[in-house]
Amino acid sequence: MTKDFTLDKYESFLKSAITNGYQLVSYQDYLNNNFDKVLILRHDVDKRPQNSLKTAQLQNKLGVAGTYYFRAVPESYDIEVIKQIADLGHEIGYHYEDLTICKGDYEKSIIHFEKWLTKLREFYPVKTVCMHGSPMSKYDNRKLWDRYDYKSYDIVAEPYFDIDFNKVFYITDTGRKWDGNKVSVRDKVDSKFNLSYHSTDELIEAFNKDELPNQIMQNIHPQRWSNNRLEWMQELVLQNIKNSVKKAIFVK
Ligand SMILES: [Zn+2]
Repeated sequence: MTKDFTLDKYESFLKSAITNGYQLVSYQDYLNNNFDKVLILRHDVDKRPQNSLKTAQLQNKLGVAGTYYFRAVPESYDIEVIKQIADLGHEIGYHYEDLTICKGDYEKSIIHFEKWLTKLREFYPVKTVCMHGSPMSKYDNRKLWDRYDYKSYDIVAEPYFDIDFNKVFYITDTGRKWDGNKVSVRDKVDSKFNLSYHSTDELIEAFNKDELPNQIMQNIHPQRWSNNRLEWMQELVLQNIKNSVKKAIFVK
């Protein structure tokens, strides 16, 4: 068996979806079209934007494009990378965590939201946003929309609010496995699908057997996917620590 969570493995995953008749698209593309079989390519650029450039280049080579959500923090927000990913035809969006950054102050948070949305719009006409759900933060960033409306900022959709996850099967690499969202603090959705996959190979097999739903959203964190041995090991060790912290929170 080959190592999981490498760029090569991700390429095999994408190819299995393409071979089995799925259109691989950005969130915006999904909203604007009616695809029979579709895999929405969502990427939360939590850190290491260079890794996102690599998945963006890989997808471009395969003739497909997805959505890349960037945070308003230095470990994610890299202007050169954002420009290059946009130039490859991908959608750019805002991975917002304004309530966390502004420590729960709603008025400051919405100003912060608007400021960073405007910055990103220098590079791309941003139409979708998506919350960053740090398990370490006491704030749920989606709460900002209890008081404000993202649609009044010319944002057409936010996956956590605007996707029916009973129709769209959600898979995420949270915890560096595909079934980690069961114990995730924030990155989870209500869904009737009773399907669960642990490794990327299992997902590839499911594509090949055509047993997956017709509409799927993948959410990957490209920092977790690397062909570089050292980076791959670092992410493994870090993830093990995080998983045990999450377990502790979850048990409480
Ligand atoms: Zn995130």
